[in-house]
Amino acid sequence: MEIQIIMSEKGKELVLLNNFKYCFVRKRSKDGYIKWICTNKNCTANILTTADKKSLHQSSGEHKHLVNSQQKIERQILRENCKRKADDNISTRPLKIIRNELIKNKPTDIIYSDIQSVRKAMYDKRRKMYPVFPISLNEAISQLKLVENNCCLFNGDQFVFVPENDEFVCITTKENLKFMTTQN
Ligand SMILES: [Zn+2]
Repeated sequence: MEIQIIMSEKGKELVLLNNFKYCFVRKRSKDGYIKWICTNKNCTANILTTADKKSLHQSSGEHKHLVNSQQKIERQILRENCKRKADDNISTRPLKIIRNELIKNKPTDIIYSDIQSVRKAMYDKRRKMYPVFPISLNEAISQLKLVENNCCLFNGDQFVFVPENDEFVCITTKENLKFMTTQN
């Protein structure tokens, strides 16, 4: 039987089978099958999949809880796909990414408030890539100093320079600096 791999909120792989979700337990060394257990903490239903995570080998135990609604599953898939794309395409508007995903995957049960929550999750994800918003000039300068070599780059070169005494910020390229300091 075909199974589907989806991503959890924390970025871990989950198996989706008949709208039940299973998380990774271990890969068996004797035959290479992978064991997964139901994500519901009180449930012991578990499955074995092939090593390529493409098909179900065996399933054991019964779920003693309700199955996830189609809407909930679709929202999770949409949210995680959109979060990843928001990271990969940092300047694309969230709504455009969401629209593309909706066209591609054609979910049937998504409602308007799901779109809102996916959008918020994308903003939150992007925000984590940046330092906290500075609340004073000194804080802004010291934040820029921390990232001057690796974050604010122009064509791959450093273009934010903060002197030792933290008194100002110079925004230019190394070549410009050299040019300006070597002219008579
Ligand atoms: Zn279960």
